[in-house]
Amino acid sequence: MSNESISRRQFLRGSCATALALGGLSVTGAAHADAEKLTEDDPTATALGYKHDATAVDVTQYAKRAGEAGKKQFCDNCALFDKTAPEGAEWAGCSLFQNRKVAAKGWCNAWVAG
Ligand code: SF4
Repeated sequence: MSNESISRRQFLRGSCATALALGGLSVTGAAHADAEKLTEDDPTATALGYKHDATAVDVTQYAKRAGEAGKKQFCDNCALFDKTAPEGAEWAGCSLFQNRKVAAKGWCNAWVAG
């Protein structure tokens, strides 16, 4: 076996390893895209009473959302909701949650008029 054939074999092995590594990155990227939505069971979300559906918030525990003024509080009118999101977007980033997506009609106790 010549040195040339060995180096070709090494090159091909390296190429295959690179392709597999890039494929792995692609899968990781897709998983990350799926993980961009905030989940209600995220520890910080739970601590702040975040709900995808603001009407499901327990107002006895989170009095801020009680009453007529409270009923008007939603993520999409919170100062921390991504204001560059397309009009009517059902999900958009929240700066409090490192721009993970929150539901436009969601709510958490950090809501602030925006
Ligand atoms: Fe929604 Fe505002 Fe809480 Fe973010 S900080 S989850 S936009 S209410």
